[in-house]
Amino acid sequence: MAGNMLKFVTTDQEMPDKRSAEARRADWHEIYGEYIKEKAETQAGRCSQCGVPFCQVHCPLQNNIPDWLMLTAENRLEEAYEVSQATNTFPEICGRICPQDRLCEGNCVIEQAGHGTVTIGQIEKYITDTAWDNDWVKPIRPRRERDQSIGVVGAGPGGLAAAERLRRQGYQVHVYDRYDRVGGLMIYGIPNFKLEKEVVQRRTAWLEDGGVIFHTNFEVGRDATLEELRGKHDALLIATGVYKARDFQAPGAGLKNVLPAMDYLTASNRKGLGDDVPAFEDGQLNARGKHVVVIGGGDTAMDCVRTAIRQEAASVKCLYRRNRANMPGSQREVANAEEEGVEFIWQSAPEAFIGDEAVKGVRAYRMHLGAPDSSGRQSPQRIEDSDFTIEADIVIKALGFDPEDLPGLFGSPDLKVSRWGTVSVSWKTMMTNLDGVFAAGDIVRGASLVVWAIRDGRDAADAMHAWLKERARTEEAVAAE
Ligand code: FAD
Ligand code: SF4
Ligand code: SF4
Repeated sequence: MAGNMLKFVTTDQEMPDKRSAEARRADWHEIYGEYIKEKAETQAGRCSQCGVPFCQVHCPLQNNIPDWLMLTAENRLEEAYEVSQATNTFPEICGRICPQDRLCEGNCVIEQAGHGTVTIGQIEKYITDTAWDNDWVKPIRPRRERDQSIGVVGAGPGGLAAAERLRRQGYQVHVYDRYDRVGGLMIYGIPNFKLEKEVVQRRTAWLEDGGVIFHTNFEVGRDATLEELRGKHDALLIATGVYKARDFQAPGAGLKNVLPAMDYLTASNRKGLGDDVPAFEDGQLNARGKHVVVIGGGDTAMDCVRTAIRQEAASVKCLYRRNRANMPGSQREVANAEEEGVEFIWQSAPEAFIGDEAVKGVRAYRMHLGAPDSSGRQSPQRIEDSDFTIEADIVIKALGFDPEDLPGLFGSPDLKVSRWGTVSVSWKTMMTNLDGVFAAGDIVRGASLVVWAIRDGRDAADAMHAWLKERARTEEAVAAE
């Protein structure tokens, strides 16, 4: 190793250039530039090559971070790419949108020692973007084709990660999605300024080129039942994500322009992709010139406020019942939102929405944080006589998502779900209670992260491969008797 490493004492942490808030507000591009080669090498060289790398322990994919940092620092980028892609199906996507401050970077030893974390995410992105530029990302070409066919329901990161791994094994992989595009929330949820759509579409084209067959506009439950798909394929994976928006009951919640976050974000993403979006054109889902209030403190809320800023809203406020330290969203995203002009009203909750036909304001009250609840988080409590009113032409509800009623939707009452509605699997086999039907991603975990969906998709694919091999062995043994 070594001359190139352990530079954290002499080299300061440096992110790639971050565009000014003013420039960011004026377009939809990602906010960070790319490292130049020398910068990537020196930043990778800050790693202290820990014997027990906590960065890796806290990466859901257990990425071999110290090794690809060392290879980058030594200008052995193609090898760095090989190591990086061995554990991560979409490294350039995770490098862009993982909440690194809560995962790898938040646990980097030199961050803990006060030197500033190694910029792991940005280097991961740099390695694979460079691999694409240099044609190092090889097409998927299975060594042998297998007759068995696999159905994947849901073309989000969980379904796609599984599809890639199964296709490499030579299975005939069919992915079904009710959307008209592949990518799940990476296309219709996460905005372009965090993850440019071309980055996802490049992966879709790569999977198609490798022989994965996509059936878009195909909704399981409407176009086929789960049982019908089971009859068509040797094994099935359910990776449908969670889409039932959490709601609240408050006077005026039914007023016009009190909107679910996904309607708002999907319209904005579709617009960016060049679609005709009547509800955007007629102003309903467009924040331009309006006073916008977003309710919630997670990733979705952050994406809504920053989308509204780019749509040139007159003002954008975010109402969250806990404080900054206790919000579920990434701290980096809050800082980005503040720089771009979002006003956070911490420790506040809505009481009623005011207006005749359309919303005109939100009546809210202040909260203080009381004793910790069973999860260890301080529970917010109302402060009496603390009411206040905020002007609002649009209110966006970003309170999180629950699973839809899959047994009902799929026409499969036997499919076992938890009391929260997530699909129950054995974590060892990723199989549901239905033989040959597996599940992965948010529909198993509840609303989570892209990196966890990738992890689950990869695990499920390996489990499906093992199950199919075992089944083939048993069938051969029976036939030979
Ligand atoms: P999804 O991505 O939801 O994909 C599921 C797919 O299944 C969809 O394409 C859907 O159309 C399809 N489907 C559903 N039902 C059916 C059916 N009946 N028939 C056919 N197809 C069906 N995570 C991060 O790591 N970083 C972020 O910055 C981040 N930002 C986010 C921002 C927003 C606004 C949201 C909502 C989520 C964000 N997340 C983020 C979370 C992340 O997007 C999800 O955890 C991840 O996409 C889950 O992957 P999945 O494959 O399980 O499901
Ligand atoms: Fe960090 Fe995410 Fe990359 Fe893992 S996948 S190293 S958590 S950015
Ligand atoms: Fe390098 Fe930080 Fe990981 Fe240690 S924890 S190996 S310093 S990136």
